[in-house]
Amino acid sequence: MRSTGRALVTGGAGFIGSHLCERLLGEGIQVVCIDNLSTGRLENIAELTARRGFSFAEGDVEQPLGTSGPVDMVFHLASRASPVDYLTAPLETLRAGSVGTEHALEAAQAWGARFILASTSEVYGDPAEHPQRESYWGNVNPVGERSVYDEAKRYAEALTMAYRRSRGLNTAIARIFNTYGPRMRTDDGRIIPNFVKQALAGEPLTVYGSGLQTRTLCYVDDLVDGLLALARSSVAGPVNLGGTEERTVLQLATEIARAAGGEPPVIEHRRLPEDDPRRRRPDLTLAGELLGWRPRTALDDGLASTVAWFDRQRPVVAAQLAGKPAVHDLS
Ligand code: NAD
Ligand code: UDP
Repeated sequence: MRSTGRALVTGGAGFIGSHLCERLLGEGIQVVCIDNLSTGRLENIAELTARRGFSFAEGDVEQPLGTSGPVDMVFHLASRASPVDYLTAPLETLRAGSVGTEHALEAAQAWGARFILASTSEVYGDPAEHPQRESYWGNVNPVGERSVYDEAKRYAEALTMAYRRSRGLNTAIARIFNTYGPRMRTDDGRIIPNFVKQALAGEPLTVYGSGLQTRTLCYVDDLVDGLLALARSSVAGPVNLGGTEERTVLQLATEIARAAGGEPPVIEHRRLPEDDPRRRRPDLTLAGELLGWRPRTALDDGLASTVAWFDRQRPVVAAQLAGKPAVHDLS
């Protein structure tokens, strides 16, 4: 990757995408960001649009992608990522992963760029192997409601490998595990936005099912480090990128309530979403060996800066809590 290069980031106005665009720009790489603003926001990139070397085009990856000039890297992040978001737009999610990935691959092919796919730990489904290694083929329900996301990403991985094998495209697949941090949409329905805004508002924390299911969270700055390390390498992957500190949902409720400075949380149990994975933690051996990457941010520190950011969004959060909360199931 040349330091004078130019990168295309699809989904660049989203949570992870905006942090990635910011980091690329900071390293002297020009950025073309394409986003349809379905779950991303212009506020996420407002500071970037004033900077030299950054351009934003509102567009949908369902259409062929165009930029005003060549790029060295194509990061394909455009896809709804929160279960609440993808379950309300199932067909769009399938198209972003399928035809959207094909358009991003075609763009990389046209410019001779390295292509980096933002895949997901969801390709492992409800894993029978723990922690999850890249060699594990997964346990996905192909017709369950989550399949619109899981199978779209599995197809995207297959398509990426087919372009690599049959067209000689320089590709990489990152399997991203649960990532959190500032700029998550406060109403995206994922665990961190829900728990943090509930804790800050002194509301009960909505735990789905028993709360004994686990996740392993990765702070967004670390994740972006990993994506850049992968982009700069010649590694094809797939490579897991994620955190190290596995927690149950109930443990996260307690830790987030503490980070928000409040009392031990009042828990309100809700129905467990269909096919909700029971445990998830990446085996990061490959990322360490091939990329020299490990996440650095302790969960306590990441939660502290995330809570501080959400605290500054209080007016937005207050308006959302007055309306319909972004919980999965209100019954
Ligand atoms: P996000 O919803 O904040 O960002 C997704 C972005 O893609 C948004 O800006 C949205 O407007 C845009 N987008 C969606 N469909 C599009 C389309 N058809 N055309 C153009 N733009 C479109 O989510 P995120 O958490 O930042 O996730 C970014 C990527 O990382 C996704 O591909 C997701 O699958 C992957 N990922 C994220 C996580 C995580 O924990 N955050 C975990 C695994 C994988
Ligand atoms: N979850 C929860 N309460 C919420 C939101 C999520 O208990 O308000 C649980 C969810 O059931 C899952 C975990 O938290 O077990 C992580 O959910 P999230 O939607 O953040 O991402 P997922 O890992 O399921 O894609």
